[in-house]
Amino acid sequence: MNSIKNRPNIVIVAIDSLRADHLGCYGYQKDTSPEIDALARESVVFDAAFAAGIPTMPSFTTLLTGLHPYRTGIVSHIGQRRLSEHVRTLPELAREHGYVTVGIDNLVVQGEGRGSWFARGYDHYSGYLYRPFGDQDARLTDRALGYMEEYAGNPLFLFLHLWSPHTPYGPQPPYDTRFYELGSAPYDMAEVRKLQPDYYEAFVDDMKLAHPEDYAYLVAQYDGEIAQTDAQVGRVVRAIKQRGAWEDTVLLVMSDHGECFGEGDFHFDHHGLYDAVTRVAMLLRLPGQQPGRCGALVSTEDIFPTLAELTDFPSPHYPLTGASLLPLLGGDATPIRPYVVSVEATRQASLALRTPEYKLILPFTEDAAGAPLPDFYGRPRDPAPLLFDLRTDPEEQRDIASDAPDRLAEMMGMLRAWRAEMADATDEPDPIQAQGLSLSFDRFMERLLARR
Ligand SMILES: [Zn+2]
Repeated sequence: MNSIKNRPNIVIVAIDSLRADHLGCYGYQKDTSPEIDALARESVVFDAAFAAGIPTMPSFTTLLTGLHPYRTGIVSHIGQRRLSEHVRTLPELAREHGYVTVGIDNLVVQGEGRGSWFARGYDHYSGYLYRPFGDQDARLTDRALGYMEEYAGNPLFLFLHLWSPHTPYGPQPPYDTRFYELGSAPYDMAEVRKLQPDYYEAFVDDMKLAHPEDYAYLVAQYDGEIAQTDAQVGRVVRAIKQRGAWEDTVLLVMSDHGECFGEGDFHFDHHGLYDAVTRVAMLLRLPGQQPGRCGALVSTEDIFPTLAELTDFPSPHYPLTGASLLPLLGGDATPIRPYVVSVEATRQASLALRTPEYKLILPFTEDAAGAPLPDFYGRPRDPAPLLFDLRTDPEEQRDIASDAPDRLAEMMGMLRAWRAEMADATDEPDPIQAQGLSLSFDRFMERLLARR
């Protein structure tokens, strides 16, 4: 397929909370991403890539292991469950295979040590606490470029995790005003606040915005953060090229999940299993590979087996839930998976089964002990499953569950079969029902108010 040597450098730039359709290369009308768009012209861009788990910790655990959250048990952000020592991570395999491994990431530090497995396998784990409102991404990129310089000549595995688009939004000038158009707001902030006044008062005020009552201003701040991070992606690309390492480097730029601007009544956060959150940006640049677009349904589970195949990493002794993307790049039109199952169990609990045509969302309303699992706003959760026809309703605004009972039954059957398969493989009860929520509304509010 291509002629790269078997130990190319592997550089992963992961951008937190980056919604794919806010990038030019995914059709956004505002010029938020000139650098990523330029990289897209040299890459394979995945148009239908989805996170198997959201938000951050489940998403990245799957990326680094090639296993669905239902296999690892890591179904929530900062939950009680730890990753088993028997599960191998990408940096562990890379180091065994002779790579120098560097991680620049906040998940061990930010997670109060509860994400300890994110440091596994690194020669250098450079942890940090996310500091919004500044130029932290530039400092982190400086660190990454420093390691590239230091280990020029070695095969290098580098994982760079940038957080700028995550709340609180607060890009630096000139990015704070670049995308702001007065009067372009899709929602009235007064209506948004009514959804849960205490929550939105604390959450939005925490951002110390110049125009907190203009929804368009908040979206413009998010877009400004994307542009600020985009500039750093450009620095990484140029540094690799200037070192003459472009033909020896596999570069993956992707997000862990998106961000909601009204989908499912969520605003400025990343919960619920709508495509706004589960769809991720994914650009893979391989030396010798023809650039292009890939419309096949793929999952964050598929990254590990892809990189393992490219580099001849020793395979783990257990089966992965992900599949290599390389057949898709070779022009094979056969899909590598019929659906992606996505999970959330942080602020509310749900499973989604997404085929190219339909999306089923199944809410979880109680845990294994029968205790209620409330929704994102702390209200009793409606147990009714939701069904969307993505061909006619890609924005998932019209629930057709009651209009299409046969389709609903079919999708529910597929999800039931998948859950039974997962239970067989792990010999454990359903992880959502066993663990409950890691950050219920009440606990989230306590933490938010304590910060003020
Ligand atoms: Zn995240």
